[in-house]
Amino acid sequence: MPKGHPSVTCGDEGGKSKAGKPCGRAAGAGTLHNGKGRCSRHGGSLPGVQLAAVVEEARDSGLMGGPLPVAPGQAILECIARTNTQVMYWTGVVEQLEAQELAKPTATVTRRPRRLTGGADDPDPKHIVVETTLGPADIHYALKAKTQAEDRLVTYSKAALQAGVEDRMVKLAEFQALPFVELLRFIEEKRLGRELTDEDNRQLHAALEEFNTIDK
Ligand SMILES: [Zn+2]
Repeated sequence: MPKGHPSVTCGDEGGKSKAGKPCGRAAGAGTLHNGKGRCSRHGGSLPGVQLAAVVEEARDSGLMGGPLPVAPGQAILECIARTNTQVMYWTGVVEQLEAQELAKPTATVTRRPRRLTGGADDPDPKHIVVETTLGPADIHYALKAKTQAEDRLVTYSKAALQAGVEDRMVKLAEFQALPFVELLRFIEEKRLGRELTDEDNRQLHAALEEFNTIDK
């Protein structure tokens, strides 16, 4: 978020300086809920406030697949478990990729007329100059998804622990998903008699998301 002119400020969310002026920092600056709510100087990093904001963000994200429990303490544990399912899933997909598939440089090819001495373009089409420019590496979608899920997992666990959710419960939620995803992959590979392809993985993930939306 650019400094100076954030689109939503802490002041928009009711954050005020001691002199009563609306705070101009970006909403959620210095907290675990960047871009939303008050900044760290105006109540945004109080453990309870932070937890509620992180849970709300998770609810809105569409990544949690299905309704979350109402109580923030329960909701965050559910977020951790579901996000961990995603981390495990994408880690499995990434492990199956070849190193060169993970990041490919993006190449842009441009064609232009040759420049003649004096600056004019050479009209002869045989003298077209072909230039290839290598752009920043294009990261495989599975690696992006894995990294994003890992980041969310860190945020959720931090918010939970700071708000006093028991360490033991957070750890439990983090590990809950592991055997389930591995079991699914194992069953699928047995059923198909081969390793899962990118497309199989996509379908399996879609099925998992759907499973998460079932009100259990
Ligand atoms: Zn503020």
